[in-house]
Parts: sequence; structure tokens; C-alpha cells
Amino acid sequence: MPSYDYDLFVIGGGSGGVRSARVAASLGKKVAIAEEYRYGGTCVIRGCVPKKLFVYASQFHEHFEDAAGFGWTVGESAFDWKKLIAAKDNEIARLEGLYKKGLAGANAEILETRAELVDAHTIKLLRTGETVTAKTIVIATGGRPNPHAALPGHELCISSNEAFHLEELPKSILIAGGGYIAVEFANIFHGLGVETTLIYRGTEILSRFDEDLRRGLHEAMVAKGIRILCQDVMEKVTRGENGLVIETMKGETLNAGIVMLALGRDPNTRGLGLEKAGVAVNERGAVIVDDYSRTNVENIYALGDVTDRVQLTPVAIHEAMCFIETEYKNNPTKPDYDLIPTAVFSQPEIGTVGLSEEEAGKRYQELEVYRAQFRPLKATLSGRAEKMMMKLIVDAASRKVVGAHILGHDAGEMAQILGITLKAGCTKDDFDRTMALHPTAAEELVTMYAPSYRVRDGQRL
Ligand SMILES: Cc1cc2nc3c(=O)[nH]c(=O)nc-3n(C[C@H](O)[C@H](O)[C@H](O)COP(=O)(O)OP(=O)(O)OC[C@H]3O[C@@H](n4cnc5c(N)ncnc54)[C@H](O)[C@@H]3O)c2cc1C
Repeated sequence: MPSYDYDLFVIGGGSGGVRSARVAASLGKKVAIAEEYRYGGTCVIRGCVPKKLFVYASQFHEHFEDAAGFGWTVGESAFDWKKLIAAKDNEIARLEGLYKKGLAGANAEILETRAELVDAHTIKLLRTGETVTAKTIVIATGGRPNPHAALPGHELCISSNEAFHLEELPKSILIAGGGYIAVEFANIFHGLGVETTLIYRGTEILSRFDEDLRRGLHEAMVAKGIRILCQDVMEKVTRGENGLVIETMKGETLNAGIVMLALGRDPNTRGLGLEKAGVAVNERGAVIVDDYSRTNVENIYALGDVTDRVQLTPVAIHEAMCFIETEYKNNPTKPDYDLIPTAVFSQPEIGTVGLSEEEAGKRYQELEVYRAQFRPLKATLSGRAEKMMMKLIVDAASRKVVGAHILGHDAGEMAQILGITLKAGCTKDDFDRTMALHPTAAEELVTMYAPSYRVRDGQRL
């Protein structure tokens, strides 16, 4: 039996890596974890957390406007970008400290270095050049923004990474992409007073979300003043006299202080030594894993964004917990990807769980769709022209609610709770016999008694 320096070596100190290392160490395993940048990874350092803080910051100007309808006179307001960045950086540093404290408390060895594989059991620590060995290795190196290297002028553009550290807030921004990161940043920058344009190749933003929500959000964003150019792409970015000049496929010439690319994320596998260890990757460079997150090399697992399955923090953490069960608790456990609640922190927000009407229409012969669009109570006095939308997709045969979709305030919070009901297999009748909580927006979810329409064989009747 060969002896190794460690029972487990984890490469990458993000959501999935830290969870794997901390829990394995707390089980008494000898664990080391290496991080090349900052502990906490994308989510804490330049993803979910700082993004949500920016979302909050960007909502205040609407709060100030709304206050007038409730009798408040708000004095002159001003926004200081540098103050926001400093406050955000403080909070991120605090969280990073907590991540390290958790690892240290479990007796995991914390290494601040890039790590690369030398063979299936050997890892090179780049800071010192030293090599160490481990019985089991977890690759949790995450992903990075796709740089769109084919775009002339791509080097003049930023990604979400830089958006968190801009020296100054630009007067205008062009964001390329139609996924949730592009949409969220368009709302953030617009809310902070930046003239914002979104350019997206597809016919509608947020592919894979329910069509009604996609359209509803698009309309709401345009009504706020965000310009959205669908079915168009940037062909060239150059530096002009007043910022950047962007030429598009449809022949438009746009100007912007900053161009941000949000065109997907690539798995972080370059230079990782995967070929030396014999670990297979797919055509996108993502590590190929089986249902248990095991690679083709028996003692090497990969989890989180680097495997290009579902790129969300709770999913990376769940995969880590399944790895622990499989490897250390003699309880082989497959990650469960069914019914993942998700949000888009746009303004208005999207919260969703389960199938969109379009997807459900392909899977079930007949659907009942319950749909409500209404003005939330707060908007009556604030005078804000905004609508909330709620939609339940029900399989007519089993009465099961197979999708729930919300556009409006706190949609993400509601989607988390709806996730429990869908996971529990609740039927529309369960929703109907649940008492409404009045006055809330969420009560609409239990008071939509008659279907708005039916869908048979994928067609609305
Ligand atoms: C702007 C943005 C907003 C997001 N918002 C949300 C959200 O609202 N909700 C949500 O659920 N998800 C969100 N995500 C996605 C989420 O951040 C990721 O799914 C999650 O962080 C994946 O965790 P991970 O452990 O796989 O990788 P990561 O968190 O990316 O961690 C990987 C770590 O590995 C390190 N690393 C890489 N290579 C090496 C190496 N060779 N040696 C040592 N260290 C290395 C990296 O520096 C990094 O710290 C967002 C992402 C972005 C970019």
C-alpha cells in the first residue's frame, strides 16, 4: 500500500473545493487545499456575493423615487462608486477570512499557491516548486469569463471580473451577452445611472427561461431606459476620441465608455497538467466526470464549474457533499439536478423552478397554465408602472405543479420556497388548499383557481 502525504488534495478554494476540503478534514482525513487567487472563489470574490451587493446599491434610486408616493421628501441624493467598492471589498475580505477560518478549524492545510498535476497522485505547488502526493484529488478550479478572442478589439473590453474593480463608473456601457450575468449587470449599471445597452445574438434574452418572463423582463428593462439589441453582435471594437466605438453585424455604430463581455464561462483547465495525470476533458476543456463526479482516473474527482454541468454555487457545494458521501462515507451518492430553483437578480427580478411552459409542453401531453399579471400593492402609491407576473405550469394528468415562474420583487426568495413544494411533488390541489397570506404578492400563487389556458401537444389552446 503506497503512502501519500495527504489523504485528499483539493485544487481550487472556491465553493466546491472549500466544502470538499473542510468536510473531509472534519472527518479526520489529512487534507490540503491550494488556491491561486483568493479563498472563496468566484462566488465570494467576484460572483454571486459582490454582484448581489451591487444589485442592492443599484436599487436605491428607485426606492428614493417611490418614497414620495408615501409622503416622504427625500433630500438630494448622490452616489459614490468608490465608497461602494470599498464597502464591498471589506465585506468580501471578511467572508474570505471566514472561509479560511472554517478550513483551519477543521485542520485542513491551507496553501496559497497555484497547483498543477504531475501525475495521478502528485501535485506541484508553483509557489515553492515543491511536489506533494495525495491518495485522492479533487479538481475544483471553476471557470473564467470567455474572452471572445475572435472579436477584433476584445482586449479593449472587460469581463465581470473587472466590473467589480472599476476605478470610475463609466457614463455609458455596452454589455454583450444575453445570459443572467449580462442581464444582471445591465440592470446594475443602469440603476447606478450609467447609460446601458445590451447586445445579444439570440432572439430574446435569457434563453432557457420561460418565454413570458423573458419577454416581460425585456419590456420592463426597456421601459426603464435600457437599450436592448437582440439578433445582433459586435463585429469590432476600437478606441475612439470619446471612448470605445463598436461596430455591429447589423451595421450600427455604437459608442460606450466601457464594453463588457458576458458571453459564457470557460472551464479553468488550461495548464493544469490533466494530460500528465491522464484526466480526460471534453471539447470545451471541461473535465469529464461520471454520475459521481469521478473522472476517468479512479482517484481523481472533479466538481463545480470546471465540469460544466450546472454553473451555480449551491450545485458545486452539493456535488462536494455527494463526493464526501461517495468517497468517505461508503455511501455512493449522485448529485440531484432535478428542480434547481434559480433567480435572475434583474429589476424586476426573476425567480423560477421547474420546467418552462415550452419545455413542459414537450414532456407532457396536456398542461394547465395558471397565469396572473398584476400591479403590486406598493406600486399603487409609488405610482411606479410595474407589473408582477406569476405562472404555474401544471401537468393536467397528474395535477403536479411542474414549473413555477415569477417576475417581480422578491421573486428569488419565493422561488426558493416554491422549490420545496415542487420537490415534494405538490399538486395544484395542494396549492389550492393552502390558505392565502394577505396582503402579499405571493398569495397570488394559491389563489389562481381557474387555468388561464391549456397547452395540448405543445400548442396553446
Ligand atoms: C458574475 C457572476 C455572478 C454569479 N452569480 C451567481 C449567483 O447569483 N448564484 C449562483 O448560484 N451562482 C452564481 N455564479 C456562479 C458561481 O459563482 C459558480 O457557479 C461557483 O463559484 C462555482 O464554484 P466552483 O467551486 O466550481 O469554482 P470557483 O468558485 O470558481 O472556484 C475555483 C477556484 O479555483 C482557483 N483555481 C483555479 N485554478 C487553480 C489552480 N491551478 N491552483 C489553485 N487554484 C486554482 C480559482 O482561483 C478559484 O478561486 C456567478 C458567477 C459569476 C461570474
